[in-house]
Parts: sequence; structure tokens; C-alpha cells
Amino acid sequence: MNYDIIVIGGGPAGYTIASLAAKGGLKTAMIEKKKVGGTCLNIGCIPTKALISRASLIKKIKNSKSGIHIDGFSINMEEISNDVRAVTDSVSKGVEFLLNKNKVDIISGEASIIDKNTINVNGSEYKSDKIVIATGAKPADFSRFLKPNISKDEIAKNKIITSSDALFLNEVPKSIAIIGGGAMGVEFAYIFNALGSTVTIMEYFDNLLPNMDSECGKTLERLFTRSGIKVIASANIKLVDNENGINKINYEKNGKSEVVESEYVLFTNGMVANSDGLGVEKLGVEKANNGRIIINNNFQTNIDNIYAIGDVAAGYPMLAHVAYHQARNCINHILNRPIIYDLKYVPSCIYTEPEVASVGLSEREVKEKNIEHKVLKTFFKASGKASAIGMNDGFVKIIVDNGGTILGTSVVGYSATEIIGTICVAIKNSIKIDDINSVMLPHPTIVESISDTAKIFLDETL
Ligand code: FAD
Repeated sequence: MNYDIIVIGGGPAGYTIASLAAKGGLKTAMIEKKKVGGTCLNIGCIPTKALISRASLIKKIKNSKSGIHIDGFSINMEEISNDVRAVTDSVSKGVEFLLNKNKVDIISGEASIIDKNTINVNGSEYKSDKIVIATGAKPADFSRFLKPNISKDEIAKNKIITSSDALFLNEVPKSIAIIGGGAMGVEFAYIFNALGSTVTIMEYFDNLLPNMDSECGKTLERLFTRSGIKVIASANIKLVDNENGINKINYEKNGKSEVVESEYVLFTNGMVANSDGLGVEKLGVEKANNGRIIINNNFQTNIDNIYAIGDVAAGYPMLAHVAYHQARNCINHILNRPIIYDLKYVPSCIYTEPEVASVGLSEREVKEKNIEHKVLKTFFKASGKASAIGMNDGFVKIIVDNGGTILGTSVVGYSATEIIGTICVAIKNSIKIDDINSVMLPHPTIVESISDTAKIFLDETL
């Protein structure tokens, strides 16, 4: 079978480019070895958010006060997992419907590239003018933290799991130690704490969310501690061992050896690109040391009819919104249309309660770059809406240069991941702080805190 373009991988990068390629008039196939929708829809963004919404409801019930008494509620983890699975099935089917509507041939199976125009799937060969690798990433190996030669069965028996397992458990862990305090780790810490597990989260760096403004991680740590989550920062994990059914996480902190005991251990120590076993090595496609495929500004590998986008491609954070933008730019390049989707300002969002979101430079980065700047900051304690709904933890921090151009923003608070969108628009379009200041925003809302913070620049706060 001959195609104009074959896409390998059916996640956000793959299904977006496949759909747009077909709409653009190219004869298109998309090969997927598991489920359409990839990590994001099936074992990533969507199921975590489905679980978080249920965790949030449980928290609200547990913390209900002031005249609302809810007695005798119970949690059935199997039913919650089935419910989450139903959500992922439905969004995956939705994407499949769109692909079919746009006349993309969906080929089920594992693809390997034979030569620059030929792909093998289950023994059948498919020819294509262009090939797009969008094979995503998988949880990083954690065997270096375990006893040598431990079998997969023993790992499962010892309840040592990855994010993919943690999404669909049939029981609420009595206790769970989460290794890694990045986005994924903190979201699971929030989920399991709400479900009633004893949660310990362990981070190598000296605060949670080490890739964001340090105030974000420190604030979350304080709020997590208040909710009963044990946060261990600066923890250098040495060995996870199991004695009589209990995992012992041996770690070093400030030169001292310590141990945490836990029923479950969840590793969230990063993701690695799915670039092995694809046949790219044989073809000489260049990869970075971390296995991600090296691309140019047009998303071409060193073999110019082979493209790579999404998590598998080097140079960008592994995020679904990055994958979507890359797919749109890549197809625009292939169809000789202008590349218009901005990849400079990448928002980072964490869907805990409160949420955490940022875009642009952090305070540390601004200082490292020696940029003269001002830090404008307000707290949600001062927000009428946040107080009314009992969600007034957190802050808005906008960093501007001396002329009032926004350099970066970090928000910890209710709906942070929604309100950061306003800053994404502002920062991309070089909108100055006084332009934001002059916009009338509705009252009472959470987003008002953005313009309240902007008013500090002109000394126009109350
Ligand atoms: P993927 O979604 O991984 O899709 C790649 C697809 O390729 C997979 O379906 C795979 O089966 C298929 N494939 C691989 N090899 C082959 C082969 N040889 N042949 C055929 N098919 C193949 N990002 C966010 O932006 N926001 C979030 O809130 C968020 N939450 C996350 C939570 C978790 C727990 C995880 C794990 C990730 C999360 N992410 C989040 C990251 C997000 O899921 C990824 O950035 C996104 O899915 C990348 O899209 P992709 O298309 O590049 O790859």
C-alpha cells in the first residue's frame, strides 16, 4: 500500500498530524500498536485528571463544614477505576471517529522502519513519501533502585508500580511512597492522600516541582504537609527492598541514611522516549544521549523525509500541548504553509488542589540572566471569590522588566491552570502589564487576581 504520509503513533502528536494531513489532501495512514489517543488520553493527562476530580470530591466531602454534614460515605476503588477507564475509552473513541471522518487509515500493530520509505507492520509493508515518528515516551526504568535481577513478577507482587498502574488500582493503598516530586508525583500524592492512603513523597532536589519557580514547590509542600502528606526533599534514593511484604525505601538525606516503609512504591522518576526497536538506528537517524530523536526547526530528522514530533523528539518538554503545536507546525511545513504555532512559551500546569501553573521565566531564571525586573505578587487570601468558595490558598506572582513587559508568571491557587491562559496570550503577544491593568475583568472571579497583581506595577492597589 502506498501513502503520501505515514504517522507512527496515535497520541496527541500522531493523531493531530494524521488528521490534518488527511484534511490537507494527503493520503494518510496512522499506525498505533496500543490504543488511539496514546499516553495522554489513555494513561496520562486524561485519566489523571479524571482521578483528580474524584479525589477533589472526596476531599470536599471529608472537609465539609459549616452546617453541611455528610455521614457514612464510602469509596470503591474498583468502581472508580472502571469509571476512569470509561472516560479514557470515550475520549479515545472520539479521536478515532475524527480520524475515520477525515479518512485516515488506522493500522493496528507495531511499526518498524525498514528504509526511508518503507514501514513494516505485522509482516505487511507500507510505502510512504513521508514518515512521521510520533511514538511518544514511557515511564523511565527504575531497576537501578531495586535489588539486582529482581523479576517482573516479584516487582508486581511487592506493589512497586509506575504511573500506568497507579491509575487503575483496585484497592486504596494503605500507604504509598512516591519517588519523584515533579508534576506526576505531586498529582498522585494529592490523589492518594484524598483517597485515604498514608502518602510520602520523596524528591531528589530541595523542593517539590524543581523545574518551576521555587515558591511554587515550597507552597505546595506547606499545603501538602497540612493535609497530612509527608514530603521528604533532598532525598537520594539508594535501594527499595521488601521485607515481609513491606517495602523499605532506603535513602540518604544530608549525609544520613534513612528509611521509609510503605505498602506501595510508585516511581515517577521521568519518562524516556520510545525510540528503540523502531529501526531508526539502522537508518542512521540521529538521537540525543537521552534517546530522543534530534530534529531541525521543521521537525525533520537528519533524513529529510523522516520527521519526529511529540515526546519522542528532542528539545522540548514532554507535554501534550507541545505535541499538538509541533504536529500543527510540522504539517504546515509539509504542506508548504507558514509555521505559525508558537513553541517559545510553554505553560507548565499541575492539577493538584490548589493547582500550580507557570509560563515564561521564573524568578531564579530572571536573576541568572541578570535582567532588571520587578516582582508583583498578591495572595488569594485577598480574593473575594477565593474566600467565598473556601479555596484561598496560594498566590499570583508576575515578573516584569522595568518597562512593564511580562517575563514570567507563576500561580498557585484554585483554577491556576485556567487563569494562566490569560498570561499565555499576554506574554506571547508582548502585552504590557498596564494593558492588563486596564482590562475590565468580571467580579467575583479568580482571574481578577491577575489584574489585581498587575495594579501593583502602577502603585494602584488599595
Ligand atoms: P504518546 O501520547 O505517548 O503517543 C505515542 C503513541 O505511539 C502511543 O500510543 C504508543 O502506543 C504508540 N507507539 C509507540 N511505538 C510504536 C510503534 N513502534 N508502532 C506503533 N505505535 C507505537 N501532558 C500534559 O500536557 N498535561 C498533563 O496533564 C499531563 N499529564 C500526564 C500524566 C501522566 C501520568 C503521564 C504519563 C503523562 C502526562 N502528560 C501530560 C504527558 C503527555 O501524556 C505526553 O506529553 C503526550 O501524550 C505526548 O504525546 P505523543 O503523541 O508525543 O506521545
